[in-house]
Amino acid sequence: MNKLLLTCSLLFSSVLLVSCTSNQAEQSKNAQACSSGNVRLTIDFSTARMDECQRVSENEYLITLVPENTPINSSPWYAFKVQADQVTDITITMKVRGDEHRYPPKISHNGNTWQLQKYKLKGQRLVMNITASPKPVIIAAQEIINNKYYVDWADKLTNNKQVNRSVLGQSTQGRPIYKLERKNDKAKEWLVILGRQHPPEITGALALFPFVETLLSSSELSKKYLEKYNVLVIPNINPDGVHAGNWRNNANGFDLNRDWKDFSQIETRLINNYLQELVNKGDKITFAVDFHSTVRDIFYSMPVDYGVEKPYFVRHWLAELDRQMSNFDVELKPGNNPDLGVSKQYFSDEFGVHAITYEMGDNTDRTEIKRIAFKSANLLMMTMLSDEDHDKE
Ligand SMILES: [Zn+2]
Repeated sequence: MNKLLLTCSLLFSSVLLVSCTSNQAEQSKNAQACSSGNVRLTIDFSTARMDECQRVSENEYLITLVPENTPINSSPWYAFKVQADQVTDITITMKVRGDEHRYPPKISHNGNTWQLQKYKLKGQRLVMNITASPKPVIIAAQEIINNKYYVDWADKLTNNKQVNRSVLGQSTQGRPIYKLERKNDKAKEWLVILGRQHPPEITGALALFPFVETLLSSSELSKKYLEKYNVLVIPNINPDGVHAGNWRNNANGFDLNRDWKDFSQIETRLINNYLQELVNKGDKITFAVDFHSTVRDIFYSMPVDYGVEKPYFVRHWLAELDRQMSNFDVELKPGNNPDLGVSKQYFSDEFGVHAITYEMGDNTDRTEIKRIAFKSANLLMMTMLSDEDHDKE
């Protein structure tokens, strides 16, 4: 897919609570200010986001990024297209209202391959020089993985006739939420894979794809694994947020990964209902992996003394990953947040089993993300198949 190598160490982080209001009609009107003339900055595609745009002089533009609501989660997403009738050098400055930049800009000429775009930071402002031409380029916070990308990916997976795709239900704004299943009639146990609760968390998505492909491959290990376990994948839980280029939330302004207790949102409710259905007909949810991104690579689990079955299972699995990947230090962080409403805790409370939040760093090398996913998926299958006693250290 992409050959992007990110080696920069640009790590912005802040947690700011500021109050501001924004509405989408207002935003798109503000964004349209730069969409006419020789040079055009536009947002006419899914995932695009450029809340405000101002032409400050002949060839200089100022973009302001604004969160969908407050409190802010510090992940200012942006994606816009730059095009010109005649080749023109322009300067684009980006600022974030009430927050700082987190994502170093990437540029793509075809929407598939991405490179880091050169930029400078001047205080809180990010400044870049772009050559606009009749051939459009896209500038974005991370590689763009839109809703269609998931459909195309699922098409490739379902070439394998044993993988079944269906619509679990509709999102808040009526977009399909797909599930992929690899089911074996003799198997009663399920591995559940979740992704994209948080739209800007692209490196989590870049890990989910090879992770699932490894599980569903035709390797001897996969064949053995899939005799015993069914796999359920819901790779894109928040299609409305993905489409809108949201920083965090769904179309109602809810953080879905805080909703696994209340199920106030249709997206989480659909998944809970489906899992309960599986359990009610006698199946068992055995383990779950939920893919995200943050400033570094880290795996969040439930503590070994939380009371889930096979308490040492995650520790055994990830210790083996750490042992086998000499250049990668596995950071495993157990935690218990009873009132937070995160998916990991839901799986433990509801089904009495382990689950993890699998977080890849924003700037982790993309080849490394694949390598970790391949290795961790293989070792997960081995650990789940082994007779090792996971009740003990
Ligand atoms: Zn997340």
